[in-house]
Amino acid sequence: MSAQECIFCKIASGQIPAVKIYEDEIVVAFLDIGPISDGHTLVLPRQHFEKVHNCPPELLGQIWTRLGKIANAVALATGADGYNVLCNNGRAAGQIVDHLHFHIVPRKAGDGVFAKWPSYKYGQGRAEAIAEKIIKFL
Ligand code: AMP
Ligand code: ZN
Repeated sequence: MSAQECIFCKIASGQIPAVKIYEDEIVVAFLDIGPISDGHTLVLPRQHFEKVHNCPPELLGQIWTRLGKIANAVALATGADGYNVLCNNGRAAGQIVDHLHFHIVPRKAGDGVFAKWPSYKYGQGRAEAIAEKIIKFL
């Protein structure tokens, strides 16, 4: 998806509407059109990058500087007991819009959102073997 066709670029530039809660020269934040809880918010850089690893670290820092303040406001306004910050990267991870964005999902105790977290245990030596492979790419 090119930046010209990107729906989030269009929202950032004001070409198409969104319920915005914050914007400055670096980021835009607006309510997700398909929320999984009231106040579900998306925070994104104005500049178009697809995934976390495509985004310059300085810009990631600028996004995260703002994310905490926005997340706190979202949580306070919705009376949340907590919140998740999520970033889907790639189709397999659930990314639908190919413009880097962070979900802020306000949570209430016992709300059942993300109730199914399919965790399991590594077999003998497997964690170390996987870590060794990852380290080679760092
Ligand atoms: P992801 O699956 O991480 O790519 O998330 C994309 C999110 O963007 C979904 O939760 C959608 O509901 C949301 N979304 C898509 N189009 C719009 C829009 N026009 N305004 C607000 N949120 C949108
Ligand atoms: Zn974009």
